[in-house]
Amino acid sequence: MTGPTITVDLRRIEQNARVLVEASNAKGIEVAGVSKSTCGSPKVARAMVRGGVAQIADSRLDNLARIRRDGITVPLMLIRAPSLNEIDDTIRYADISLNSELTTIVALGRAALTRGVIHDIVLMIDLGDLREGILPAEALDVVAEILPIEGIRLIGIGANLACVGGIQPTVDNLSNLVYIADEITKRFSIELPIVSGGNTFSLPLLETGTMPEGINHLRLGASIVLAESPTPPGLYELLNSDAFTLTADIIEAKVKPSRPYGVSGEDAFGRRPVFDNEDKPSRRLILSIGREDISPEGLTPIDPRLKVMSASSDHLLVDAGETGDEYRLGGTVDFTIDYGALLMAMTSPYVEKRYVLGTEPIDANATVELIDLETTGLASHLLDHGLREDMSGIGFSCIQAENAAADLTTLPLWLATEAWQNTRIPIATEPGTDLGAIIFASHGDIEQLLSSAADLHGPSLENTVLVGVKNATVDHKRALDEYGVLLVTIDEIDRHGMAALMPRVLAAAGQGVNGVHVHFDMDIIDGRVLGVDDTTHLGGLTFREAHLAAEFISETGLTRSISIGSVAAADSDPLGRQATFVDGLVASLLGRKVVKA
Ligand SMILES: *Cc1c(COP(=O)(O)O)cnc(C)c1O
Repeated sequence: MTGPTITVDLRRIEQNARVLVEASNAKGIEVAGVSKSTCGSPKVARAMVRGGVAQIADSRLDNLARIRRDGITVPLMLIRAPSLNEIDDTIRYADISLNSELTTIVALGRAALTRGVIHDIVLMIDLGDLREGILPAEALDVVAEILPIEGIRLIGIGANLACVGGIQPTVDNLSNLVYIADEITKRFSIELPIVSGGNTFSLPLLETGTMPEGINHLRLGASIVLAESPTPPGLYELLNSDAFTLTADIIEAKVKPSRPYGVSGEDAFGRRPVFDNEDKPSRRLILSIGREDISPEGLTPIDPRLKVMSASSDHLLVDAGETGDEYRLGGTVDFTIDYGALLMAMTSPYVEKRYVLGTEPIDANATVELIDLETTGLASHLLDHGLREDMSGIGFSCIQAENAAADLTTLPLWLATEAWQNTRIPIATEPGTDLGAIIFASHGDIEQLLSSAADLHGPSLENTVLVGVKNATVDHKRALDEYGVLLVTIDEIDRHGMAALMPRVLAAAGQGVNGVHVHFDMDIIDGRVLGVDDTTHLGGLTFREAHLAAEFISETGLTRSISIGSVAAADSDPLGRQATFVDGLVASLLGRKVVKA
């Protein structure tokens, strides 16, 4: 079942981040990418990081926790002051927090010491908008009290404007922030690496070249995700305002009068609607989305002939009078959305989130580089037992290598006699590339993933899937869930079949990343397939299941690197039986169809 869907084009967000980062860097300004409008989506955060932001910032700890668990490595910044109940989690999930209360800062210092870390803070100064911040006149006194607090490092000051008082950032008030920073650095002989001059509302100063020198940091959200006003015209021109598309289903399409009939009173929201006196019957659509999911005022139909009329909790009415019967029952309507509607759609559990990132498949004639992770001679064993021929049969040349970087012309194939959790796969993708992972293994829990993940490829854990795990407990599953890792057990494969499960596996691993790493542990295969006389390997995947999964993966064109674990050492595979199986599996992963007998 799919209902309304929000499609997030990560390439457009990445481009927006890059445009804003470049424009800011040109003026000596770093950018924190603010992810709060997307509920701290790690995919959106990663797109911003690819675009060059220096930190990821969010107002909610839950969101930062989600991003941190996913494995993002840039510093995370909490931009709403923590409550006294959130002190410990702030130290855990944020590297930097914006603060304005001494008591909170003291508590943060204590918690940081307990954890044995130093927590960085940015002291917020109120420049007139009267939301967070100490008053400018108190700055030196407050800093004098902060500096001796152990566990805390004051790395900057900042200001937020235009959010509640409507006070705009100006040359005057931001110069005042720079002045205060100078006073602090002089008086206390410290460095203040961050002087954070606000949010999207500060961009007009950047564009007109009037940003006071000394402002070296901005926290940008609405401009990166939607080029939302007040993004100034020159930058707006370079930005995508359509990174998000909301799509809803048509559940009624009829010609109806333009005026309601019957006894008139209040509507469902206590308002008294007014209508033109002239009655012009017109074609109108009802879409299955409503105020529970979005604010209708924030939706703009992509087809300019359509107009949003009104909405109740679950129904959105659209005037389709200018489109004949083009829009029909069963069809859909697409909208661009504004910041308010985006916040609602992202938080609504009824709106499905879909992430797209135009993926480039590897070159058709890429080189497969075989790398032994141990000194077991597996690479040469495979090359001697048919892998070179199998690969050249589908257009890939095959060489042995010491190490390899996954790019579009090289596909690393790591080989190990150990299972995945005992191997260290030093995947290095090109900078600015994010991968998911599909791991076929009979064992797997979150601790193993966390300890191997760092080497596996700095992967997105929300894009990691474990397939084929035996004896998984409810606790296992829950722990993996918390990190967004999908677990597909061998029982589920038995029950539903590989073909039914693979679409979900591929969506989880491949959505919104540049490609996937595929790992396959040989001991997941039913021992009978390989003629291994070993009863511990019974009840695993069959030959057909393994190849079917590999073919599904190959059809997506997502594979960027492969590793095969628990391969029998070359000298215990004299007949090359296992080698033949591995060759066939790799060939299936890279696009050869298994002949259906
Ligand atoms: C939300 C927020 C931002 C980002 O604001 P945008 O207008 O979306 O760029 C920056 N700083 C703080 C403190 C915020 O709460």
